[in-house]
Amino acid sequence: MEQSFIMVKPDGVQRNLVGDIVQRFENKGYTLAAAKLMTIPGEMAEKHYDELKDKPFFDSLISFITSGPVFAMVWEGENVIAEARKMMGTTNPAEAAPGTIRGDYAVQVGMNVIHGSDSQESAAREIDLFFDKSEIQSYEKNVTDWV
Ligand code: UDP
Repeated sequence: MEQSFIMVKPDGVQRNLVGDIVQRFENKGYTLAAAKLMTIPGEMAEKHYDELKDKPFFDSLISFITSGPVFAMVWEGENVIAEARKMMGTTNPAEAAPGTIRGDYAVQVGMNVIHGSDSQESAAREIDLFFDKSEIQSYEKNVTDWV
């Protein structure tokens, strides 16, 4: 089953949005496979955002993402990578549709509340970077047949 790495960023944790975001993924019908509250070490943040290292906003992105605890998760389900991106809304909250997480809760691109993997390759890489295999649960929920 497909898995995505989803993370409530430090602004989302500070603004008490962890519960709402978890609720949205549960309501959608996805299965939580792993979760932890953690502060990302600088080196790990640089690895996570490696493909953005030449962007002008890279340094501010790294200092923001390491500035306080994040809530890192693995969610599992059919097409979860693409669907989670839809649920999140566009990168720039100013363009994100109402009803999406960024559309509902964020104003500026530098503080857009949530991260979600954008492809199968990034999902695999990000899950591996943030979680040890032993932290990821594999289980069936009876309700899955109804989703
Ligand atoms: N970002 C930023 N300024 C920009 C573009 C992006 O600070 O002009 C930040 C923003 O927090 C975004 C993250 O860099 O979520 C990663 O950018 P990406 O293009 O990968 O967007 P995402 O996949 O998060 O939607």
